[in-house]
Amino acid sequence: MKNQQKCPKCASTDIVAGVELNAGGANAVHLEVCRKQLGGLVQPIEARSKATAYICCQCGFVEVYADTPSQFRSANR
Ligand SMILES: [Zn+2]
Repeated sequence: MKNQQKCPKCASTDIVAGVELNAGGANAVHLEVCRKQLGGLVQPIEARSKATAYICCQCGFVEVYADTPSQFRSANR
């Protein structure tokens, strides 16, 4: 829906683009990756990003994109 104004679920073209996602007032998508180290210690690694949603006004399907996704890649290593 980001690149083409068409819903992948119902094929409607009634799409609202660029809606800012607000998750519980935090205003950001939050990803936490937990790593287990040799001693059994679990170390959480955090990455945050604002997100933009695309909403189908016909069936309600929502597609969400992180505005800065590259930091999630480095947090997952
Ligand atoms: Zn739809």
